[in-house]
Amino acid sequence: MTPVQIWAAPFSNKMATKLKKAKSAGRFRAKYGKSVRDKLVKVESKQKVKQKCPFCGKLGVKRLSKGIWKCTKCNKKFASNTYYLD
Ligand SMILES: [Zn+2]
Repeated sequence: MTPVQIWAAPFSNKMATKLKKAKSAGRFRAKYGKSVRDKLVKVESKQKVKQKCPFCGKLGVKRLSKGIWKCTKCNKKFASNTYYLD
């Protein structure tokens, strides 16, 4: 065994654990394929943050259901984009 191989073995293990970026798709474990889970994480992470209200301009809009949004600042309920507001 060369010195390079001895050094590379623990390093590659560390990299493998570091590469786990499950986030909200972690509940699916290994199901559905990585690219699908990555796309889901992208959409869900945008869904969870508060969106900007088109009426009062404040960050307080939460997603209630598909395309249904409610602003916690001015209490307006409205229909808009399905997953996140622009
Ligand atoms: Zn508002």
